[in-house]
Amino acid sequence: MISGGRPQGAGQPLSYPITPASTFEHGSDRIYSRADATEAWDALEALLGGLERAEGLAFSSGMAAAGAVFDQLRVGAHVLLPDDCYHGVAHTAQDWATKGRLTFDRLPVDDTAAWVERMPRADLIWLESPTNPLLTVADLDMLCRAERKDGSLLAVDNTFLTPLRQQPLDLGADLTMQSTTKFIGGHSDLLGGSLATRDERLAERLRGSRTLLGTSPGALEVFLTLRGARTLALRLDAAETNAIALAERLADHAAVDTVRYPGIGSMISFDALDGDRAAATCDAIRVVRHATSLGGVESTMERRAGTPGQEHLPAGLIRLSVGCEALEDLWADLNEALSS
Ligand code: PLP
Repeated sequence: MISGGRPQGAGQPLSYPITPASTFEHGSDRIYSRADATEAWDALEALLGGLERAEGLAFSSGMAAAGAVFDQLRVGAHVLLPDDCYHGVAHTAQDWATKGRLTFDRLPVDDTAAWVERMPRADLIWLESPTNPLLTVADLDMLCRAERKDGSLLAVDNTFLTPLRQQPLDLGADLTMQSTTKFIGGHSDLLGGSLATRDERLAERLRGSRTLLGTSPGALEVFLTLRGARTLALRLDAAETNAIALAERLADHAAVDTVRYPGIGSMISFDALDGDRAAATCDAIRVVRHATSLGGVESTMERRAGTPGQEHLPAGLIRLSVGCEALEDLWADLNEALSS
């Protein structure tokens, strides 16, 4: 793994500077910071790309990164999306469809045959695995090798597992996307996004979209993301160990119906007996924070059907992002809240 630290040099600081500059003195490639990276931004992209042996691109948010991919589509393009995926991406597809810019179909991510049948007619195949929030797993190996139309793009939102647990580019995906707001940043203190691709021309086009749309990352966010990313492996190991144990204990709890945990990563979704009990559990927790978002050192959970636009989900579904706290503190908190 790339260290994310500065190259060696006598008297040099070990970390990169925060450079709050919009413009640079003429005479080099750096001109204006909507387009041109600072030293820390370059280092972040080298780290993100290095994790996938690809070109990494940093954005101002996960949605900005996803938007750059949608921005590659010509008017009238056809998109395939999982029926369960991050709702912001689904809303983007719906919004663009309403404006006549594209058509789309949503398919269960684990219905491989349905995807394989439709992929030859799609311009963008947008996958997310495991899905948010139902944690359904796609057969990425099969889907990345399936027949597609020339010039189509296959992108995988890899936010939940990160490149440390899943490498879709190795399987044949054109692009991976992450909300670096989550595990890569890891401390719930920034918004960021990233794309990685091994296709240099595609990387150039995506960079062009970022410059035109102005979705470049800010100086403080670049610094914080770089700092967070340097401990990703440690945090993910700790959180995953906690998640494996909690998934087992939750499955045995009398107030829990179903536990959805794919056996990897640190996201768990579980169904409390009904919507009211799920809401009461979320109100009662103290160590786990009752908040949206995920991937931080602190555990967070929420009843997803209570989120606007997510009312179709099971009423009792709680999405839990397991953090790095002591396991027994987490379990005591969850057990008490579920039993209250
Ligand atoms: N993809 C997934 C799987 C997410 O969970 C999120 C945010 O929750 C996003 C994309 C969007 O990222 P951001 O909030 O950084 O724009």
